[in-house]
Amino acid sequence: MTGSRKLYVKSFGCQMNVYDSQRMADTLAPEGYVESAAPDDADLIILNTCHIREKAAEKVYSEIGRMRRLKEAAAAEGRDVLIAVAGCVAQAEGAEIVRRAPAVDLVVGSQNYHRLPDLLARAERAGAVVDTEFPVDDKFEHLAPPSAAATRARGVSAFVTVQEGCDKFCTFCVVPYTRGAEVSRPVEKVLAEVERLAAAGVREVTLIGQNVNAYHGRGPDGRLWSLARLLERVAQVRGIERLRYTTSHPLDMADDLIAAHRDLRALMPQLHLPIQSGSDRILAAMNRRHTRAEYVAIVERLLRARPDLALTSDFIVGFPGETERDFAETLSLVDAIGFSGAFSFKYSPRPGTPGADMAEQIDEAVKADRLRRLQAAIDRNQAHFNRRCLGRTVSVLFERRGRHSGQIVGRSPYLQPVQIEAPASLIGEIAPVTITEIASNSLFGALARQPALAGAEA
Ligand code: SF4
Repeated sequence: MTGSRKLYVKSFGCQMNVYDSQRMADTLAPEGYVESAAPDDADLIILNTCHIREKAAEKVYSEIGRMRRLKEAAAAEGRDVLIAVAGCVAQAEGAEIVRRAPAVDLVVGSQNYHRLPDLLARAERAGAVVDTEFPVDDKFEHLAPPSAAATRARGVSAFVTVQEGCDKFCTFCVVPYTRGAEVSRPVEKVLAEVERLAAAGVREVTLIGQNVNAYHGRGPDGRLWSLARLLERVAQVRGIERLRYTTSHPLDMADDLIAAHRDLRALMPQLHLPIQSGSDRILAAMNRRHTRAEYVAIVERLLRARPDLALTSDFIVGFPGETERDFAETLSLVDAIGFSGAFSFKYSPRPGTPGADMAEQIDEAVKADRLRRLQAAIDRNQAHFNRRCLGRTVSVLFERRGRHSGQIVGRSPYLQPVQIEAPASLIGEIAPVTITEIASNSLFGALARQPALAGAEA
């Protein structure tokens, strides 16, 4: 253990990266690193990168440029700053990062975070280190758990990674290359982590994985457990009131998981189920391995199991070969399902993926126009879903203070942010709130009665 040093971690992209950033901070805490909210006086800066968005690598290089200036300013004052690049861009670019940006001391792939203390010591001793191998040992075995104080500081809702990697190989996606094949954590490891979180005051757990519903972790009985079985067991952990899981693939929406939406009270009525396109031709080109009709049939079964289920999705517009007719099918699907929200992006080729080499790449102006029209349809459906909550009483888990004094913010069962005027002592509690006003991205309401105790779910 050395003296106290400041660590700044900047997380890009998905919840998997937010979770990994927290685990990196936990792993470095015994080395004397204390998390800092800003990079200015940090001794170690970690950029935990994402490869999903357009020009991801270029954005990382410009961020490194900003951090390099801080490093130079610190050096002028006689202070050493280390810069590390982690995450999917680190995995994809590897040594190229150090070649293009010599200010970087360490490039660490997403499977190697448990080696951070050792890698940093090597970088301090001997200069830049690159470690993007897929190791045979399991990083989860070695990553340090957070302290109770760190968990409390992160709030009452927590992510737990249960699965990593993907075997699906959608033709637009780098994840199978940057995160590797599907791996599931054993049930007992997941339970131990959830129990630690619950003991520190966490009330809501979201089980996460690139392909979370493909979960097949080894159970204490020696068998492979499904995600539904894992959820059922996690729901029994004392103190955990709410469960969610993300991100799912339609192909892995198994019968027992659909039934869990009916039977498991702690499982919130909200599901993120990406489809990407409403056109069968484009779904086939994307190698999604399901049709629009199959997706709609899954949604119908889910809604029979849980009629108030809020569904969100992901869409890509302008995939190679997408015609106006294909796009019209995406628009019609959005209205047919009535999503409560969705993420939508213009297709951008990722080097090394089959989509990047496809003929018929779509003009940027066409993509931009389709994205605008799609987002208008998504917003319309989201507003419609939110309006249905007006006048209803929903249970809200309060997570933090609002921007205005006297205001606190929580989440409805449908994952909508809900703001009310109430004492901060309610943070961490679940209470019924009557929705009185709808804004574009959040709901406003008032406490329906005295704070309910655990289990007052919609
Ligand atoms: S299912 Fe497709 S989009 Fe999702 S991580 Fe796997 S390859 Fe990427």
